[in-house]
Amino acid sequence: MHRTVAQRFGSLNSAGQLSSWSTGLGLGRTGTLNLMIHLRGHRRDFDNWARLTGDPSWSWEGVLPYFKNYEDYEIPGDNVNHGYGGDLRVEAPDWIGRARDFVEAGREMGYPNVDLNAPFAEGFDIIRYPIKRGVRQSPYKAFLEPIRTRSSVRIVKYAHVNKILFRNGNIAYGVEYDRHGRTFVAEARRSNSERRNCFHTQNFDVEWRWSEITFARI
Ligand SMILES: Cc1cc2nc3c(=O)[nH]c(=O)nc-3n(C[C@H](O)[C@H](O)[C@H](O)COP(=O)(O)OP(=O)(O)OC[C@H]3O[C@@H](n4cnc5c(N)ncnc54)[C@H](O)[C@@H]3O)c2cc1C
Repeated sequence: MHRTVAQRFGSLNSAGQLSSWSTGLGLGRTGTLNLMIHLRGHRRDFDNWARLTGDPSWSWEGVLPYFKNYEDYEIPGDNVNHGYGGDLRVEAPDWIGRARDFVEAGREMGYPNVDLNAPFAEGFDIIRYPIKRGVRQSPYKAFLEPIRTRSSVRIVKYAHVNKILFRNGNIAYGVEYDRHGRTFVAEARRSNSERRNCFHTQNFDVEWRWSEITFARI
């Protein structure tokens, strides 16, 4: 749990306008304890980030292929906005309470039933969650557990990263981290499958080369 400094405009319902931010510490991190609402966010926010950074890859069109790539969406037939067969199953839970009535109430007020994970107009929908066969899909469950026995994957717990290592300007190739009082470097090498086309393959594979720095602490 992290405690923020006193907020000037927010956290008005909190003592001293101090906000508490919880964070997960198990594998999968905060995704193991969050409320699981699967909402990508609004198209205009992404487009605004692209404008602010001057980098079109942050735009909605720029990030959409990544959203689609990891997704296995429950409602078929919308290849423009959704992905199928990806690692993260996204669906409505078995029990949705009064959610259909909620959507219907919105319709009576003139708001359509929209897909909240598409570039949407104002409207209502049943919320989708990362759930597969009734089981919560934390980032660990969806992405790490299926590959953790690969020889190219090594999980290091209790590691504190000091810095991300870059080459050629902005190409990240590894991290430097501390663990139990010693400093290590882990470097990523591109595997054959990644070189082929990591974007469209499920075989994305990062190989880590481990080299302990010879002195104890930087
Ligand atoms: C109570 C709660 C409910 C939420 N509900 C939802 C929801 O319904 N839907 C939704 O989309 N989002 C929700 N969120 C937000 C969502 O869970 C987070 O935005 C998301 O999990 C962040 O993922 P992350 O991998 O970026 O960061 P994290 O999951 O926070 O992982 C980052 C991890 O990195 C570790 N770390 C930081 N610095 C270092 C370092 N130097 N070296 C090593 N490790 C380090 C931190 O300890 C942390 O565990 C919720 C969050 C909370 C707290």
